[in-house]
Amino acid sequence: MTKIEQPFLKNALAGVMALEPYSPGMPIDELQRRLGLSDVIKLASNENPLGPSPQVKAALAEHAASGNVSLYPDGGGFRLKKKIAEFHGIEAERITLGNGSNDLLEFIARVFLGPGRKALFSEYCFAVYPLATLAQNAEAIVAKALPSDHPTMPYGHDLDAFAAALTPEVSVVMIANPNNPTGTWVEAAPLEAFIAQVPASTLIVLDEAYIEYFEPGLAPASRAWLDRYPNLVITRTFSKTYGLAGLRAGYALSHPSVADLLNRVRQPFNLNMLALLAAEVALGDQAHVAEAVELNRSEMARLKAEFDALGLKTLPSQANFLTFDLGREAAPIHKGLLERGVIVRPMASYQMPTYLRVSIGTNAENTRFLAALKEVLAA
Ligand SMILES: *Cc1c(COP(=O)(O)O)cnc(C)c1O
Repeated sequence: MTKIEQPFLKNALAGVMALEPYSPGMPIDELQRRLGLSDVIKLASNENPLGPSPQVKAALAEHAASGNVSLYPDGGGFRLKKKIAEFHGIEAERITLGNGSNDLLEFIARVFLGPGRKALFSEYCFAVYPLATLAQNAEAIVAKALPSDHPTMPYGHDLDAFAAALTPEVSVVMIANPNNPTGTWVEAAPLEAFIAQVPASTLIVLDEAYIEYFEPGLAPASRAWLDRYPNLVITRTFSKTYGLAGLRAGYALSHPSVADLLNRVRQPFNLNMLALLAAEVALGDQAHVAEAVELNRSEMARLKAEFDALGLKTLPSQANFLTFDLGREAAPIHKGLLERGVIVRPMASYQMPTYLRVSIGTNAENTRFLAALKEVLAA
């Protein structure tokens, strides 16, 4: 398409002009349309392969049958907040609901970032952090990640590099634990030590989208930190273990003064009524979460063993995906997998062009992925 320079473009925010749009995992429909395939599996966006809890499906079906969509949802999210408050042992006034946790990251950016402000995050961090920062015309400070040949945590967050990059001008620090797209993590003790030395005027966002997948004993008890560090914000999502990615629901836990500000910029009805209902029911079915985590544990071990046997290096992961190194340009392998109806995530936009990321699927999906991968590698 010919790019036509329009005079009004000079008034667009420089940050927005500079940002790379988020590239989502390819939808199943799109690949089916493009290649005329009928049987496509998607292991590209770290969704729950079991889907949501049966209790959620029943509640959604009942709501759909009622046809009740003409009234606005509860903008305050009273019932869901009450459930979250009970679940975490926290006051409702310290909760902010988001249309996915992505929404919360944007509220944080809107309130605490802007021209002249700085956000600090790692190389190989979640793509939304630079997006939310640039969209506010704020500056991104990138902490170098641990080196690719690091003995235990290649590409992982380097808390020393974070500490070295911290200046009083940094208003927000963003850390995902475990991190996406790498799966790497930071341990509780060094993470708390880092948080403790962040200036009280700097907000720390701890993005715990994958926290439920941590193997027993490794997940930081970060809820307690909220009471010690008023500048800490924890974000959680219903998109991963809870299997509600399509409905969009997440929440932030914070000091009440932060929650108050985030709630000021929130659109009044940012969670639709089905998302509110589903999240509330999902939180009550922890057995379903445990089932998803157990499936992930056993299937990730199987995939890891298969990657080892193929001589493909994987990054250490406590999440629900494995990021693996082809040792050569990954794009042709990605294409070969697509042609076989298997969608995984290319890592080129994360400056990791020899890597692909595969979400852990069901046993059958993983078997299909492995067969396709072996075919492509042999081709
Ligand atoms: C998937 C993911 C989220 C969750 O995004 P939602 O908007 O809640 O669907 C947040 N952070 C990271 C690092 C993720 O990978």
